[in-house]
Amino acid sequence: MNISLNPDVAIGYKSPSQQVRVITEKWFEENMYCPACPSDYLEPAPPNEKVIDFICPRCDERYQMKSTKRALGYRVTNSAYLPKITAIRKKTNPNYVFMHYDAHSMAVRNLIVVPRHFFSPDVIEKRKPLSSNARRSGWEGSTILLGRLPPDARIHLIMDGIVLPEHMIRATWQHFTFLEEIPTSSKGWLTDVLSYVRKLEKPEFTLADVYAFEDELRKLHPKNKHIKPKIRQQLQLLRDKGILEFLERGKYRIVK
Ligand SMILES: [Zn+2]
Repeated sequence: MNISLNPDVAIGYKSPSQQVRVITEKWFEENMYCPACPSDYLEPAPPNEKVIDFICPRCDERYQMKSTKRALGYRVTNSAYLPKITAIRKKTNPNYVFMHYDAHSMAVRNLIVVPRHFFSPDVIEKRKPLSSNARRSGWEGSTILLGRLPPDARIHLIMDGIVLPEHMIRATWQHFTFLEEIPTSSKGWLTDVLSYVRKLEKPEFTLADVYAFEDELRKLHPKNKHIKPKIRQQLQLLRDKGILEFLERGKYRIVK
């Protein structure tokens, strides 16, 4: 993986946004491997695919690429709301790859892949419909609440200009493929509890440590009246999947 972007591929394109698109697409084509399988390249998606940019020729995983000059924040604006929610429910949503590049040095600073199995409707927010004056009046876009997902969902392929080893990326991806089997309706709970466990920044923690987030979790899941049992259920699941280890009554250790 080469972190340099080649501006020459955009010669002949006038608008800056078109130039960026051409330059970053070319970069993905030449540098991107599949984090989900051993394929060392991805293929551009057919032009009729709306939200898919690249497809893995080996495992068929589909990727949507986004590039920005600014570092990735808590929220990312994205495509139409309803089709996205439907795709998440049907488990046909794509994986995302976010590129943060430095326009000065024309180099990739950060490259982050967010596997599709982390997504639930809980992390997608509806944006205000476009006003009646707009060309696409009434159209509702979406916002991905990237910062609500646990850090495990944001796998860095490049971090601050450093390319991380592919075997590490693929292993990290595999740790969480069990999320594919979790019903979409309860997945938000699992990723929220994992987020708070990660926020503790402790290799070992107690049930009380996680219960301390009860109020915050209630705000995130206002319809649920049984927050504590829900927390215990998620910790149990994370233990069954090898992410946590159970030490003794009410005590846990992080494995992965
Ligand atoms: Zn693949």
